[in-house]
Amino acid sequence: MLATEATLEAQRAIAICNACRYCEGYCAVFPAMELQRDFTVTDMSYLANLCHNCNGCYHACQFSPPHAFGINLPKTFAEIRLESYAEYAWPKPFADAYRKNGVLVSAITAGSIALVLFLTMLIQSGSVMFGPQTGPGAFYRIIPWGVMSSVAGATLIFSILALAMGARNFWVDTQTSLSGPINWAAIERAAHDVATLRYLGGAGEGCNDADASFSLARRHFHHALMYGFLLCFASTSVATLMDHFLGWEAPYSWYSLPVVLGTLGGIGMVAGCGGLVWVKMTTDPVPVARRMLGADYALLGLLAMAAASGLLLLMLRGTGAMGVLLCLHLGFILAFFVTMPYGKFVHGIYRGAALLKAAVERQKNTIVAG
Ligand code: SF4
Ligand code: SF4
Repeated sequence: MLATEATLEAQRAIAICNACRYCEGYCAVFPAMELQRDFTVTDMSYLANLCHNCNGCYHACQFSPPHAFGINLPKTFAEIRLESYAEYAWPKPFADAYRKNGVLVSAITAGSIALVLFLTMLIQSGSVMFGPQTGPGAFYRIIPWGVMSSVAGATLIFSILALAMGARNFWVDTQTSLSGPINWAAIERAAHDVATLRYLGGAGEGCNDADASFSLARRHFHHALMYGFLLCFASTSVATLMDHFLGWEAPYSWYSLPVVLGTLGGIGMVAGCGGLVWVKMTTDPVPVARRMLGADYALLGLLAMAAASGLLLLMLRGTGAMGVLLCLHLGFILAFFVTMPYGKFVHGIYRGAALLKAAVERQKNTIVAG
């Protein structure tokens, strides 16, 4: 990782924090910081991805603006996170995607919807596209199963590979003498921290978003989005298995497993995205990195539209609007798959890797001290 204005600022701030240590119980960043005396640029990348942006240290700090020291860790770390996403991106030429990420994700979304609609209308007659389609295989009369599954499968496989390579780049770059081998206890600890979004909880009271008062709103909305997303993924997986191995073609009844999972997941995602946008719009702007906002809003907008279009498709699937709604929904899904490794979605991957590294280091340090 290269030195930038943000990494130099973080190194300056962390030297002060490591002497002060007032915030050591706030999150995983401070205990990780206290294992070291000197910090490299790469250490900044690790600590920045460990930060959950709760603003706790900003509001607690006697040296935060307008103090002359101007310590503002949430903002500085958010800027470094954005730089680290570009640094670890794979393939490398795609790193530029993070420059104006909000504009890029919006353009890809518009392009994906236009492409799916245009190609579908090119191959389908008006009566099929705009006429009601019902019964097993109704969706595939609009877009054939082979086309749908091969485009989605190829895009998803590439994106998962790109995410895995990014995680690998982060892991290799941030290894230090404090690092140790990955083991089950560390994996369990990191998985627990990810699943509970532990560091959005502060000391049980939550983040300081709007001001110095505590709120669990961000944690709750993030949970709704994360578990809503996982339920939608489970819904799609179950539907694929039912179709592929049992020969039961979609659409399925309201009480079938894929529809129940997808409905709950979709509602969770819409509520989570809406709530997180509200939290962002009402948050104190001083500890916010403006450069990150485009990527934030673009991902939340894309996920909300993907979920909302899926719910609308479910409600109107027996009507003549089904063809257009299916194209719209698949356009959003395609845009999400394409932009997954080149947008804010990657924060979950790097933050998970940073939590795993922190768990390994904590364990190794305890063993050495013992
Ligand atoms: S953020 Fe401020 S109060 Fe907290 S450890 Fe750093 S210098 Fe101390
Ligand atoms: S903003 Fe929150 S998570 Fe980030 S360093 Fe400060 S206390 Fe830790």
